[in-house]
Amino acid sequence: MRIPLITQIFIAFVLAIIFGAIFGPDIAVVEPLGDLFLRLIQFVIAPLVLASLIVGVTSLGSGKQMLRLGGKTVAFFLVTTFIAVSIGLAMGYTFNPGEHADIAEPTPEEVEEETAAHDEDVVDTILNIVPENPFAGLAQTEMLQIIFFALALGVGILLVGERAEPVKNFFDGLAEVMFKITGGIMKVAPIGVFGILAPVVGEHGLSVLLPLLMVIIAVAVGCLIHILLVYGSAVKLLGRISPWKFLKGMSPAFLFGFTSASSAATLPLSMKNVQENVGVSNKTSSFVLPLGATINMDGTALYNGVAVLFIAQFYGIELAFLEIVTVMLIATLAAIGTAGVPGAGLIMLTITLTAIGLPLEGIALVAAVDRTLDMLRTATNILGDSTCAVWIERSEHKEKAFQPHATDEISS
Ligand code: ASP
Repeated sequence: MRIPLITQIFIAFVLAIIFGAIFGPDIAVVEPLGDLFLRLIQFVIAPLVLASLIVGVTSLGSGKQMLRLGGKTVAFFLVTTFIAVSIGLAMGYTFNPGEHADIAEPTPEEVEEETAAHDEDVVDTILNIVPENPFAGLAQTEMLQIIFFALALGVGILLVGERAEPVKNFFDGLAEVMFKITGGIMKVAPIGVFGILAPVVGEHGLSVLLPLLMVIIAVAVGCLIHILLVYGSAVKLLGRISPWKFLKGMSPAFLFGFTSASSAATLPLSMKNVQENVGVSNKTSSFVLPLGATINMDGTALYNGVAVLFIAQFYGIELAFLEIVTVMLIATLAAIGTAGVPGAGLIMLTITLTAIGLPLEGIALVAAVDRTLDMLRTATNILGDSTCAVWIERSEHKEKAFQPHATDEISS
């Protein structure tokens, strides 16, 4: 009988705590297992991000109507994702989940050293986004440079059209291959989690557990705020329909997303709900929802904000203003590149961490409660896609929107 991966990770988590508590600092002998896992994750990041972002951009397609619809849809996705990261960061600063760790305070010299390492010049940081040599950026895992390269390639492929088809197919294939490899690496995640977490517990004791509860609370409250404030007002003000009717209509998909932790798997149900219960036309929903399930991940972005602050606080690292801005930018893009499958957000968190130089070991801590976080973020992701569909429906069909049988032709 096969034990599901998430259960294995949970078992590894419990074992790490037990072994860490029993053996104390001696458990550090298992550290190489953790290091090996971290190296494996780092090994996939650059090609994974490059390929998956290119696929994200090229899946928009070209053609006039596509471009207009696509433009509006993507603009909505970007704005809401950006708001989501900001809410996540606000939650991180409100709940301070990492500060509940009873870990020895770093000395003032250590703090100064860390903070100096995280203080960069604004102009340099911005200039540095454009790689002088994109392959050097890839080789150094310079996240912003890789993202820039991916966006440029994606747009280029769209503009060239048919003749760039082989390039598009190549990156499509590469993305699939990278997802497969990542899936393989995740199979050894339980060993990695054990190798990372047991030494942490061994060194710091059981006090490392309380912060995880705070992370869950911070993400849950953040998602609730995002749903009520952002989606609620978008549905009411932009879509001009009742937010309660919307939430009630979408509740089966919301619950299925919550349990399955997969936007992709929930897609058929969200299509059905948004059409039958909310009244969005077939045409709008079949464009917006599949695209949303691929690139629109507000819950994931929000979780990035909370997790980054948690990990920074946990390791006593003070983030500079510029780094917060970088987190907002990178987390938005990382969310776009996140596949709509369980656990994808955890891998993409490494991108945000790498971009601002936070310890990747932090992943092992959040991995332990990732399923709960994944359920919360996926349910939010799904509502985000359907909120966008409501707005597009209203803006494309005006007064004829949300009327059965009258809306299957785009009117303008
Ligand atoms: N599981 C999420 C989704 O399918 C993605 C993530 O892991 O954040 O929407």
